[in-house]
Parts: sequence; structure tokens; C-alpha cells
Amino acid sequence: MNRQRPSFLYGILLTAALFGFSGTFLSESPSNKNRASTAPLSRVEEIYAPFDTLRTDLSDYIWPTNASTVITSSFADYRRTHLHEGVDISTNSQNGYPVYASRSGYISRIFISRRGYGKMLYMRHPDGFVTLYAHLQRFDDKVDAYAKKLQKQNKRYSLEVDIDPAMFPVEKGHLIAYTGETGIGSSHLHFEVRDSALNPINPFLLPQISAAISDQIPPHFDMVAFTPLASGSKAQGRTRTWVVDAKRENAGEYVLSDPVKVSGLIGVSVKASDQADILKYRTGPFRFEMYIDGKLVFTSAKKFILDGEAHQVMAYYDRNLLRARKGRFEKLYVEYGNRLPFYNRLPEGTGPIDTSELEPGEHQLRILTWDLSNNESSLTAMLSVSPSAKR
Ligand SMILES: [Zn+2]
Repeated sequence: MNRQRPSFLYGILLTAALFGFSGTFLSESPSNKNRASTAPLSRVEEIYAPFDTLRTDLSDYIWPTNASTVITSSFADYRRTHLHEGVDISTNSQNGYPVYASRSGYISRIFISRRGYGKMLYMRHPDGFVTLYAHLQRFDDKVDAYAKKLQKQNKRYSLEVDIDPAMFPVEKGHLIAYTGETGIGSSHLHFEVRDSALNPINPFLLPQISAAISDQIPPHFDMVAFTPLASGSKAQGRTRTWVVDAKRENAGEYVLSDPVKVSGLIGVSVKASDQADILKYRTGPFRFEMYIDGKLVFTSAKKFILDGEAHQVMAYYDRNLLRARKGRFEKLYVEYGNRLPFYNRLPEGTGPIDTSELEPGEHQLRILTWDLSNNESSLTAMLSVSPSAKR
């Protein structure tokens, strides 16, 4: 796909477009950085290969506490400096619920800090996969006594130590710790699953984990943003991001009331959230698909993150919209440099709408999203593409 197109193609401006629309322009113009051509396939392979075959028994993992089955934050949710690498389980604003080994294995690492994850345990399982439990109030008695001994020896509170596999073997479902609020944040259990190379896996890909939650409410579309990405590109006649409220028609069905005028190369991003049956918390939806005139042009799912790549939070969320305090918009396109394995092997540069590939006139934009329980919502909008100067 060649994204470098001369700007005269987008020369016909849509000056009449500003009247009668319910959206707003982002005041700050986003940077129109040079777009690079698509990456070599080897790079895509490198990003996705670790997740092609997860050499673990997916059905073996169990829910790690009896505190609740309520998720307060999902995998890959926004954090200021990173993507959330696990799930947060509600502990009803209390501490001291038992934490159970999600699988059989052994305690492989003890981590204690006054900041971040507070008191944390790593468990290594026979296939090399790792489960991780954080913000703990305290560990099981034997582990706790061992940690205290080391803290005393080191004469400091912070501790980071690998444990001999023979020292603390644990059976699946047995007590390893108690929930707490150590480190940053209020009471909850932070739970992660990582492969043998420590790449974080969405715990909801594991059947017993996903079966634990109850959710029949489809995700909610809040707003859609249209961002001109190349010089000369325009949304609603201007080079700034155009933000429009989504209107709910029925359960799980949303529309944009008016057609959106687009020309050039346009990135679509959405502000959407999901809420499960029994909770007030809103988390990010799990996956997206985008269609133009019924043809699939983009797909994403928050399944995995490469270890050490969680800082790519701004590759996924729209920085300009965040800074403009519009909220957390998820980009439905893959920018150059994005190394997140969310896109089913779509290469960098995929996803933006290129109006030079569309006939002038109206085209249907349809965005589908699903939550972790596979509840679906759709958003339908009309795109109005002007005749280009070429024709
Ligand atoms: Zn967390």
C-alpha cells in the first residue's frame, strides 16, 4: 500500500460541511508525521510468533480468589505510562481475602516494594508459564516468614528474590497469600498470566477464568473521532480531528446521526467501554472490527503484549485526544512503529481510510466491538467522499 499521495488529490475542500453537525473539532491539530511504508513481514512475524502456539493447558487455570468475580480493570486498559498487563479483581474495598494458586507449580519469585505492585508473588508452572499476584496484604505463613527473614538480613523493606523450585511447591487452588492494598492503589487483586518468556497473556483467553464472570451487557460506544493523517487530508472539511457523539438506537446498536465528510487519509478512533452485569466499573472492550461498505478493513483484539512493550500505550490510545481531555480513544489503525500484537498480523500502516480508493459519494462505515463475554455492539455511520481533483 502506497500511502504517499500528492496533496492535490484532496484539493476540493468541503467548506459547507460545518453546518448542522453535532460534532466538535479537536482544537489542537494532530501531528501529520511522515507515514512510512509497510514493515517487512519478518517484523510482523517477530511480533506475533511467540503467541502462535501457547504451549500450556489453557483449561488448567482457575480464578485466583474468592473475593469476587468482578473485574475493575481489564487487560491492556490505559495507564499513564503503560498498558495494563493483567486484570484487576475487586476485593470489595477490603483486604485479607485468600489468594489461591491458579495452577499447580511453585513460588518462583517474591517481590516487595512500597510502590508499584507492593507485595507480589510469581508462580512458575511445570510448562514454564507464570502467574502473578500483586498488591498482597501478606503471603502464606511459610513464605511470609521467609520474606521477613530476608528483609531483616538485608535491613530493608524492599525485596526482590528468585526462589528455588523445591522451596515452596504449591498445588492448584491452595492458599498462597491474602489480598491487600500494598503499593499503589486501593484494595484489589492484580492478577497476570505470562508465557515462559514472560510475555503477558490476557487471562480471559483461559476458559475457566472467562467463565467466572457474568456479563450480558454489550459494550457502549461513546464517541468516534476522525483524524486526518496525511498532508491535505481533511475530516469535515478541516485538517483537525473531528469528534462526534455516538447515538444509541437500541441495545448494542449505535449510529452517527449525520454523514461525515472525509478526504485523503483518515484514521478512525473510538471511545468505547464495557460494563459487566453487576458492576459499576467500565473497562475497555476486548476487540474491534471495522468495515467499509461491508468489507473488513481492520481488526484488533487485546490478547497479548510482548514483555517489555507495555510502554507502547500511546501506539494504541490517541495521544492528542487524551491531551485534549476528550478521553481514551482506541485507534482503529496501526501506526508505523506500533509493535503491539493486537492486529491479527495486519502490518504497520493498515487501517486508515484512504478516500482515493473509494468512489465519490456515500459509503457505509461500520464498527463492531465485543466484550470478554462476546457481547456485541455495532456503530454505523455514513462517510461522504467528495470527487477528487484527479477525476
Ligand atoms: Zn492491575
